[in-house]
Amino acid sequence: MMNDTDTDIALRLAAWWESNARDLPWRFGRATAWGVLVSEVMSQQTQMSRVVPYWTAWMERWPDARALAAAPKAEVITAWGRLGYPRRALRLQECARTVAERYDGELPRTYDELVALPGVGDYTASAVMSFAFGERIAVIDTNIRRVLARAFRGEESLGGSASQVEREMARRLLPESDKVSVVWNQAVMELGATVCMAKAPLCESCPIAGQCAFLRNGRPGLGQRRTRPRQRFQGTDRQVRGLVLEALRGLPSGGTLERARVERLWEDRVQLDACVASLDDDGLVEMLPDGSLRLPE
Ligand code: SF4
Repeated sequence: MMNDTDTDIALRLAAWWESNARDLPWRFGRATAWGVLVSEVMSQQTQMSRVVPYWTAWMERWPDARALAAAPKAEVITAWGRLGYPRRALRLQECARTVAERYDGELPRTYDELVALPGVGDYTASAVMSFAFGERIAVIDTNIRRVLARAFRGEESLGGSASQVEREMARRLLPESDKVSVVWNQAVMELGATVCMAKAPLCESCPIAGQCAFLRNGRPGLGQRRTRPRQRFQGTDRQVRGLVLEALRGLPSGGTLERARVERLWEDRVQLDACVASLDDDGLVEMLPDGSLRLPE
């Protein structure tokens, strides 16, 4: 149940969403439920604005779960491009295969069935239920948690996994009607992505600045986090794995990268070999007996 302030915030956010929502191609009923799921998987660790060209090309090529299920793995990994964390591409294809085989190519419409799909967690299942199917369900991601903690509890959100208190608050604040709850989820999330950012929230242009408990309290602990700051990219295994995959993506279809060329990609041989082995373990590359590499069939 909402009190008057909660209702006021909900109305302000809905009005703000109406005129400020970014025009992303999977929004406003223009994408299928499968398209919405693809957009959510792609945006998990990548900014939505960066996802747009990848999502558009991907959906043109593989418009539904059946099409993706039948695609060669090498093409799927190549099309994932520089979205990062490429294991997500293979998990998405596994998900497509399950949907094609078990659900006749159509995404199931219940939370329990969605969350049981490969690579689909609580957030993605809830997002699809709300954004694609218009069901009333609390969607909980980092942006939503930050906005709710700040605006309603007057506290900084410290990251880590969502606590019971946070889940209960998200459920309590969710508007009663299905349709309004969908706008609420999207508006809160969008505010977190574009206005109420982690380090430097734009309180001066925030539609709920007058009601925000965090701003009223003087923004205590702004930017503090419970989790470690993100690892630098330069010199990390992520960078090395990215270089190997980029070299493979640049080859003609079915091409192999000889060992000598692999070795030229990175100076530290121990790190390079460990990264190649981890890509092989993840099913993202195939190592041939002579040490050359190729993308999987
Ligand atoms: S006033 Fe500032 S802290 Fe409060 S919700 Fe808006 S942007 Fe976030």
